[in-house]
Amino acid sequence: MAIGDAAVYFDGKTNRRRLVTLTFGDRLELRETSDQVIEWGYADIRRADGPSGVLRLTCLTAPTLARLEIRDAAMAADLAWRCAQLDDNVPGRHGVAAIVGWSLAAVSSIVAVILFGVPLAADRLAPLVPQAFERRFGDVAEGQIAAMFGARLCNNALGQAAFTKLVNAVRETAGLDTSVETAVLATPIPNAFALPGGKVYVFNGLLARAQNPDEIAGVLAHELGHLVHRDATRNLIYNGGTSFLIGLLFGDITGSGALVFASRSLVTSSYSRQAEQNADTFSVDVMHRLGRPPKAMGELLFRVTGKEVDKSLSILSSHPLTEDRLARMSSVEQTSDGPPLLTAAEWAALKAICSPQN
Ligand SMILES: [Zn+2]
Repeated sequence: MAIGDAAVYFDGKTNRRRLVTLTFGDRLELRETSDQVIEWGYADIRRADGPSGVLRLTCLTAPTLARLEIRDAAMAADLAWRCAQLDDNVPGRHGVAAIVGWSLAAVSSIVAVILFGVPLAADRLAPLVPQAFERRFGDVAEGQIAAMFGARLCNNALGQAAFTKLVNAVRETAGLDTSVETAVLATPIPNAFALPGGKVYVFNGLLARAQNPDEIAGVLAHELGHLVHRDATRNLIYNGGTSFLIGLLFGDITGSGALVFASRSLVTSSYSRQAEQNADTFSVDVMHRLGRPPKAMGELLFRVTGKEVDKSLSILSSHPLTEDRLARMSSVEQTSDGPPLLTAAEWAALKAICSPQN
């Protein structure tokens, strides 16, 4: 994972400020230029005192005065998560501080969530949750989905090829890398999900009701919007409440009942109206860039609204469809001069992705 130039390195010998790119491999790699790599073992990294909003680090194997400074909150949280001994030389700052304690804002947000459960605090905290932690939650939620929907993955060869083609077109246009995982689940319920950590599921019940690839592309783009905005993580913090936060602070969560409870709420809870609008805007933007009609997704959702007797598990329960959402989607100007996303044969194959073989 290479992440821009948000980190600054001082080598401890000169006072020159070096912009470095960080890569989280087996060790932390700091790169100023492509041929010059400094490696820090995560276990050797320690926190140094620094101004608020900056994670300042030293390394036991580096010159004593060498410092790495990270200002980007998400990156800092991700790195802090990997450094188990980050606070070993700072008495009384184990555990809590190791993950998010570097930021006063994060700590006050946690306290606010625990005391008041305010969504605002969840909004502030979501971007600070380490990606490694999100992925663990995503994995448990995945098991929860399998349990609730009794679902197996659909991936017959032709259907999977068509699905991959459609996903890649949307994903690349949305500017996301291949760490996003997608799959079709064999359940008649018409729904689609984005899980923390970058997993998107489309249920076969939604595919069955779709009439063209644009409708599914619009839904995929909408779900990617939720991923980019970290809405699932935000919901998880809000709904999982205290148990989630205690897990976040102490890292002792695997297999706990609290985790299962929180991830179950992830599957059954709704996104806020604002989150839906933002994901719609993201979808409209992606569809525009693909040269495909953004309102196709609205037409699919409208079709689901009309026929679904039990809406409790459908896409409409997790992505509430309001009048203004429909109005916004259908008022978007048609621009469908781009090439079709799938051929007729590929679309037929995708629709049949849950058949035994094709
Ligand atoms: Zn949504």
